[in-house]
Amino acid sequence: MNKVLLLVAVCFAVLGMSSCSAPRGTADGPVVLDIGHCVGAGGAKSPRAVKGKRLQELDWWYEYVYYTRKVIEDAGYKVLVCNRGDEPETSPLADWAERADVHHLGHPDTGNRYPSDYYADRVAGGIVSADYAISRRASCAVFLHHNSDRGWRRRGGSKSLIICNKHNGPRLAQCLADTLNSEVLNHGMPNGNRECRVQVRSVDAQRSAGWMNACDDSGIPAAVVEAAFLNNAAHVRYLSNPSTARRYAEAVGRGIVRYLRTSGHEPRHYREDTDKPDAGSYGYSAESRRIRVPGAENLFQS
Ligand SMILES: [Zn+2]
Repeated sequence: MNKVLLLVAVCFAVLGMSSCSAPRGTADGPVVLDIGHCVGAGGAKSPRAVKGKRLQELDWWYEYVYYTRKVIEDAGYKVLVCNRGDEPETSPLADWAERADVHHLGHPDTGNRYPSDYYADRVAGGIVSADYAISRRASCAVFLHHNSDRGWRRRGGSKSLIICNKHNGPRLAQCLADTLNSEVLNHGMPNGNRECRVQVRSVDAQRSAGWMNACDDSGIPAAVVEAAFLNNAAHVRYLSNPSTARRYAEAVGRGIVRYLRTSGHEPRHYREDTDKPDAGSYGYSAESRRIRVPGAENLFQS
């Protein structure tokens, strides 16, 4: 009888352990490319048409992610492309989605934040994409966006950025920035000689931090590409021309390959104690204390 009880206890212990230890990224996992935003809420848009076209983040990446993907696959790495929303039903988006083999996660934007399935104190809108990268044990995750300020930029360059997670992301982000700086920015895409910079984000209320912290917990380098500005006419002209647009998308792919080749096998940081809160945990910032997020865990109060 005691043996049976012991067996039951051991089973529960093993079950408990496996349910709270999330999958981990390794160098051998696939690269996850996430097309930001979703059908119905496509992100930043150019203020007016350039060459008859108004660019929007979502549509642009649906069209060009294929080239990013191809560069990485041609270098010998596996790639998964995802988008948090529903599958587009009309062309050309539907055709582009098919060509790039986009995996749709069926979780369109609601404007609300929600917790990660793996780390209940990591909260963000669109965290479903980070959870996807974690579930696939990604080697890295790159979130594809463009940026925008208000109105048309009249002079000088824009504040091109690669945003990344704190522990695992800086090398990946630097490789992306270096590649864009040597192949695109001020090399065909004018930016007033301003270079793309790397910015680490890890505080829970900072946009994109919540989902990238979840990746960080699982040892997955994560970066958001915010290098092109859709209110910068020079950037929009570059992204509107099919051959230079393709060059931009391929440069992102080459940045990722550069990271995998030079640093993909470096030791990764994994969050060992998920009961210990940090600045990236829900409830740290005043902003996140003001909102209620169903299902989220506030480790500061427990
Ligand atoms: Zn965006």
